[in-house]
Amino acid sequence: MPHLSVAKFGGTSVANYAAMQACAKIVINDPNTRVVVLSASAGITNLLVALANGVDAEQRSKLIDEVRQIQENILNELKDDSRVRPIIEKYLENVTSLSEAAALATSPALSDELISHGEMMSTQIFIEVLRELNTTATWLDVRTIVATNDHFGKAAPNDEQTQANSDNLLKPLIDRGELVITQGFIGREASGKTTTLGRGGSDYSAALLAEVLNAKDVIIWTDVAGIYTTDPRIVPNAQKIDTMSFAEAAEMATFGAKVLHPATLLPAVRSNIPVYVGSSKAPQDGGTWVTRDPQPRPTFRAIALRRDQVLLTLSSLSMLHAQGFLANVFSILAKHKISVDTITTSEVSIALTLDKTGSASSGAELLSVELLDELSKLCTVKVDTGLALVALIGNDLHIANGVAKHIFDTLEDYNVRMISYGASTNNICMLVSSEHADEVVRSLHKSLFE
Ligand code: ASP
Ligand code: MG
Repeated sequence: MPHLSVAKFGGTSVANYAAMQACAKIVINDPNTRVVVLSASAGITNLLVALANGVDAEQRSKLIDEVRQIQENILNELKDDSRVRPIIEKYLENVTSLSEAAALATSPALSDELISHGEMMSTQIFIEVLRELNTTATWLDVRTIVATNDHFGKAAPNDEQTQANSDNLLKPLIDRGELVITQGFIGREASGKTTTLGRGGSDYSAALLAEVLNAKDVIIWTDVAGIYTTDPRIVPNAQKIDTMSFAEAAEMATFGAKVLHPATLLPAVRSNIPVYVGSSKAPQDGGTWVTRDPQPRPTFRAIALRRDQVLLTLSSLSMLHAQGFLANVFSILAKHKISVDTITTSEVSIALTLDKTGSASSGAELLSVELLDELSKLCTVKVDTGLALVALIGNDLHIANGVAKHIFDTLEDYNVRMISYGASTNNICMLVSSEHADEVVRSLHKSLFE
């Protein structure tokens, strides 16, 4: 087989007819792209999440109208919408009845079923946009391929089952030379219920499919031309990074850069599949290649910012010279499926921040009353909010000379609540107050990259 690429287009890339047309042209111009993974049109998933949380009749009809309007705007620009319109109507009927059900009683399984409709609609419409450009494509329900566990809202793929499904159903389509259009973000658990992989999960889907198809690369088309040294909305001087390593990109994704979903890199790293990030609106502007071992490897690569952080400080005098305190804390966190991001410890207390990035599709709060109750039985619990985590990403940061001095000199005017340095060769994390976060990023960027 010639070089096989899996291309993924994000929500803004399929937000409207013109955007979809730009994507269709990208697909047509690259004969290696045989599998196309789409997100829902921008805005749709948020609306569906709101409906899934159960709202009153008035609010419901308002939200459904907004969903309808976004899809309608695209349908209206098609030259011939006769094939796809009835399909979209049917999906909208489903959305309506599932939303009514959610208003009576919400459930994680119901939410995922409802939320999955965004990707179902965008992929059906995209088939017609391609057809207008004289390209025939095959629509595939990705749930027949991506098998997951039943952790609704943030399901984990079952790699073996997904591989088998791909070998049986997807691979033959590709071998026949078909162009396959399918959904990101969604999957199916063993009993047949729809699951979702967590918000922004379409990147992850694309990488999973690339892995099971043994593809040469994954192309993530979004609304920015690659990965930048920091968010250009905060620092207009931010520079595009041409190549970076999986490790660096994973840190960036985990610590808040919205360009890639943190889990995307798992299959890519596992199977050494290069990932490209580019802009579907300006493909000519180039992008960023993420690969295993790019050269050069600068000490400082980028700065990521994650807002809305929660700092949990757990203190217990009985921790003094005691064994098993951390083990107890972590087993409680694990039981509540909470993953810890950064941690510092002293003799009688530990401070940790929680990983909120890949939170569930439903947007549920991480710190439940049950969790806090359970922790309180073990120790004193203090919860601080209004914080942001600034992560400096690079290479061999733990052994580079003068890194800490440089950072502390730059940040001498700010109150750094917590710093995590030394565990990773690729990042240094600092917790600062939300209102200073942008300034901290600007100061660091200026001193390290400008
Ligand atoms: N549509 C989903 C979301 O908005 C998945 C994605 O866009 O990747 O989170
Ligand atoms: Mg998205």
